[in-house]
Amino acid sequence: MSDLHVVIAGGGLGGLALAQGLHQAGISVAVHEKDPTPDFRNQGYRIRINSDGITALKALLTPQAYEVFAATAGTPGPRMDTFDHQLNLLHAQELPLIPGLPGGGNLAVNRMTLRQILLSGLDEAVHYGARLTHYFINASGSVTAHFADGTSATGDVLIGADGVNSAVRRQYLPKARVGDAGLRLLYGRVPFAGDEARALLPPELLGLWTTVVGPERRFVGLAPVQYREPMREVTARLAPDIALGDDSDYLACVFGARRELFPCTDAELFAMNGAQLRALTLSLVEGWHPGLVGAVSRQDPASIFPVSVRTSVPIAAWQTTAVTLLGDAIHVMSPAIGVGANTALRDARVLTERLVQAAGGRPLAEALHAYEEEMIGYGFDAVRDSADRGHRLAGQDPLPSPQA
Ligand SMILES: Cc1cc2nc3c(=O)[nH]c(=O)nc-3n(C[C@H](O)[C@H](O)[C@H](O)COP(=O)(O)OP(=O)(O)OC[C@H]3O[C@@H](n4cnc5c(N)ncnc54)[C@H](O)[C@@H]3O)c2cc1C
Repeated sequence: MSDLHVVIAGGGLGGLALAQGLHQAGISVAVHEKDPTPDFRNQGYRIRINSDGITALKALLTPQAYEVFAATAGTPGPRMDTFDHQLNLLHAQELPLIPGLPGGGNLAVNRMTLRQILLSGLDEAVHYGARLTHYFINASGSVTAHFADGTSATGDVLIGADGVNSAVRRQYLPKARVGDAGLRLLYGRVPFAGDEARALLPPELLGLWTTVVGPERRFVGLAPVQYREPMREVTARLAPDIALGDDSDYLACVFGARRELFPCTDAELFAMNGAQLRALTLSLVEGWHPGLVGAVSRQDPASIFPVSVRTSVPIAAWQTTAVTLLGDAIHVMSPAIGVGANTALRDARVLTERLVQAAGGRPLAEALHAYEEEMIGYGFDAVRDSADRGHRLAGQDPLPSPQA
């Protein structure tokens, strides 16, 4: 084990992936997560993992954990087609299949399952109920993170992996802006149990991601998660030490529109229960194709929650210190092209490589600067691409200029 000690604020997908990589490399790491338990709150359902995410997970996870990841991921194929609200094909899109990657680089993963895999083997390293409030850079160059419960943790480097409302970013880069992108989503899941719901939709709507666009650029996004094997059989076969919650096939179903198209205020929207949110979604897709309305009406009310789409505004490079940022904490983006988590996983891979170099003698500041230079490039490119697609698809607000 090297002398380097890394403190990570935030145990989401990015922070845990980084902790996995450092742990495998023998670098001491502690993750401080504000939630009291790993399943404290609903964090969403299906997540698309592309070649960046798969490559990162292969590099960061143990071989057994990576095998479990690949075996629990759905492989719905590479289609991302767009239909009108009567289900006439508007635009066919087939992503390339990348040889050597599971699913050709197009996986549909259950978010909670991925989190459970990312937590495996990290029991000692993850501290729950630890909300970072602020940090100090000490005279020695080390960093001390302070938490709301009065505790603190000191490391050679502090990584802010604390998501869209990052406390680390607010202190470190107060000029970095995160704003409302003007869209609201109603995100739920349709159980496929009994196969009635599955049969409602033509099979061509069950690709990697299907967008159905209606009047005023309201849209419904559909994405199935279909398992090839029950979780317990996967872990029994590949890694009995990894504990996964059970899950059944489902269709992730996301309604989205500009916020003005909702007949209620944000306060009212965020106060609604699941049944009210489902009724609202149904009212907003009235007259659409009966198969689609049927699928929406089968959403499990308990699964539905509203989301305000937020985006960062790209900024120029900053002075490197012993504090840096990863994932949504620095480059949160609209989910329009489904790459936010993939970019966070890529950050974790690149930052692990740089910290391994620092543990091997490369000056820490130089290693962190190299990470930031690379991450700022691809991370903010993804923010811009997501904003462009969100604007064309659903009228997302264009990104303000950085000076505005
Ligand atoms: C509807 C929707 C669908 C999406 N679909 C996709 C998809 O298909 N593919 C894709 O690549 N991306 C997708 N994304 C984006 C993806 O969810 C995020 O980009 C990803 O979760 C970012 O990971 P992260 O680790 O940076 O942040 P998070 O996953 O948000 O984790 C941050 C963690 O930090 C913790 N935290 C927060 N504040 C503190 C604090 N002060 N102290 C300590 N801990 C703290 C939080 O509790 C959380 O656990 C989607 C997003 C949305 C909204």
